[in-house]
Amino acid sequence: MQRYFGKLDDQGNIILLEEDIFHVIKVMRARVNDLLEVVIDEQVILASIHNLHPFSLKVVERRHEDRELKGLITLYSAMPKGDKLDWVLQKATELGVSRIILLSSKRTIVKVDEMDKPKKIIRYQKILKEASEQAKRTKIPLLVDILDFSFIEKASGDIKLIADEDVAGKTTGFMQILKKIIPGQSIDILVGPEGGFERSEVKTAVSHGFQTISLGKRILRSETAVINLLSIISFMMEGGEQNGHL
Ligand code: SAH
Repeated sequence: MQRYFGKLDDQGNIILLEEDIFHVIKVMRARVNDLLEVVIDEQVILASIHNLHPFSLKVVERRHEDRELKGLITLYSAMPKGDKLDWVLQKATELGVSRIILLSSKRTIVKVDEMDKPKKIIRYQKILKEASEQAKRTKIPLLVDILDFSFIEKASGDIKLIADEDVAGKTTGFMQILKKIIPGQSIDILVGPEGGFERSEVKTAVSHGFQTISLGKRILRSETAVINLLSIISFMMEGGEQNGHL
């Protein structure tokens, strides 16, 4: 069933964005009495269409759904260029990321003009919302901003990891770190751009508590590294083989 993120107005009526109403009516070709899901404050409401013009919904049932990871993952991405970033935002959302902080590092190719930032952020937020709806999440990841690399000094996760191409294939203790993850812990992950990290950046991260990890012997593209790392962590956070994964 189609899912949308909505709000309640002062009278307790369900409100959808105009573009979502357009989607329901024109794309899904919905009719009166058709059902859809609306997520409001992390709760899923099964709603039926009461009226098409003006659009209104009726609550059928409220549900609690367990779709979110038991822990917060913050992705610090030193932005791959072009539509790869769109792809990373979408896939990271599907994999359960809680927050995404876009970083401008020394070798980040994308240079975002301050003037263009608000427009870009709105577009990125739309990607996150749509990916959350598609993945049936009950939360939309928070997109913080496009910030300078030095922002990683403020990272405050229980576990902080930097995927470092320089230790690719070396023993970094990643498996031991993963095995110690406790539900509810927050994890910060830092992935470099296509050009990789400068050594000084890795040093800064390490001096602020990030542990360097290897993602295997091969060098992955930035976007693959993000997906790989998030897949591994979400698997471990959900209890690996115990919680319906295998
Ligand atoms: N241009 C660089 C590679 C950058 S890969 C070079 O040729 O060395 C882009 C980012 O993906 C890296 O900064 C790192 O964060 C991550 N990454 C890719 N492969 C990795 C691996 N095997 N281990 C750890 N991190 C990796």
